Parts: sequence; structure tokens; C-alpha cells
Amino acid sequence: MMTDWMAAGIRKLLPFIVILFCIGTAHAQFQIEVKKHSNSIYIYESYGAYQGGKVGANAVIFVGNDSVVVIDTPWGNDQTVQLLDWIDTEIKKPVASFVITHFHDDRIGGIDILKARGIPAVSSELTAKLAVENGIAKPDVLFKNDTTITLAGGKIEVFYPGPGHSPDNVVVYFPSEKLLYGGCFLKDASTTSLGNLGDADVTAWPVSLEKMKKRFLKPKMVIPGHGGLEPGAIENTAKLLDDKKD
Ligand SMILES: [Zn+2]
Repeated sequence: MMTDWMAAGIRKLLPFIVILFCIGTAHAQFQIEVKKHSNSIYIYESYGAYQGGKVGANAVIFVGNDSVVVIDTPWGNDQTVQLLDWIDTEIKKPVASFVITHFHDDRIGGIDILKARGIPAVSSELTAKLAVENGIAKPDVLFKNDTTITLAGGKIEVFYPGPGHSPDNVVVYFPSEKLLYGGCFLKDASTTSLGNLGDADVTAWPVSLEKMKKRFLKPKMVIPGHGGLEPGAIENTAKLLDDKKD
């Protein structure tokens, strides 16, 4: 039987119990998923809460001969720790750097973990500027518009097509696999929405898209920022932008 003093004690502790429970569930909420594409490319998905639902974000792990380069951090610190643990256990090679494709949380949300572990974050000058303006830590290695990262066992081309989903969005091409990672600049083949347009430039986006298509003529595989990986991401992005005009 519960005595009055026990009940009073529980009432006093209740707010703390609720807070502890919330912290516990927030930490356990999302679990990254990694899929092998080839010996050098893994595609991973992290998750975030967006408009009351759970949304996945695609990104890429490139495995070179002696080191790993990751394109985009997972969506937040916890999942970034999960990803680094996964690389430690499964790949067993040091992470040379992370390339950040724009300044939103689903791309840069784990930068504090990178800072804490001394892993360089690479981004354009514009992404760094927007990150700082939005209270996010500044990436460590900056490039002007485009850059190429060469590591033993591979080459990674980073290209700025112009504004689209955000003013600073870049896309990443892996020539060895002819794989084009569009990040949030590209929508998946079956979505009917352009997604978060808060920082988008829908007038410039189609022009930027044409620039990207001219630069990377026949990619074998295209990875959009969110959603499924079936073919047609570039075509669907163009269509959604075209519909937006009417
Ligand atoms: Zn974004």
C-alpha cells in the first residue's frame, strides 16, 4: 500500500522522471541504416523529425584504400556517433573528412561530433557562411565553388550547380562508379513535393539543374537527398519545378 509520504515523494519526482524518459526515448528514437552499393560506396540513411513525421535522409560513404570520406553528416549528433561507430567496426579505416552539401540539419547536423573528434568538415565558403549565420559550427576546410578530393583508391568531384533547394547546395560525383549524389538538390523519382522550400530558389533551380545535367552527362545511378533510389530523380525534379511555374 502506498503511504501518503510515498505518494508525495513520487509527485515531487515526477517531472524529473518524465524528463529522463524523454531524454531516453529521444536518444533511442532513430537508428541509421547502411547499405553496400559496391566495394567503395555505401549509401546510408539517417532520420529526422519533419512536419510531425519521420523522414529519412540519404548520404554516401566512400571507402578509399586507406581512408574513408563521408558525404554529409547524419541528421544530428547521436546518429553521427552511430555512423562513426559503424565505420570503426565494419570498415576499420580512419575517416579523412566529411563533405557537407548544404547548411541544413539533415546534412550538417552532426558537425559538433566531428569537431569533438578532430575530423575535418569540408564545405563551400557559402555553406560555411550560412552555417555560421544560423548558429551552426563553421566547417574547417573551405572551397570556393567546386573541388575535387583525391584519395588513394578514388576521386570525388564536388560541383556547385547554382541555387536550388538552398543557395549553397552542391552535388557530388564519383567517377569510378558514375554515381551522382544530388543531396537535397534532387528529389526522388516518385515524390510529388519539392519538400522544404524555406531557403529554395525555384526560379534559379531549373537553370542550375540544366548546368548539372551538362556537367555529368550519363550517371549510372543518381541518389536524391530523401526517398527511394529508383531511376528518374533528375527527370522528376525537373517536372516538379516545371509544375511549380504554372
Ligand atoms: Zn536542405
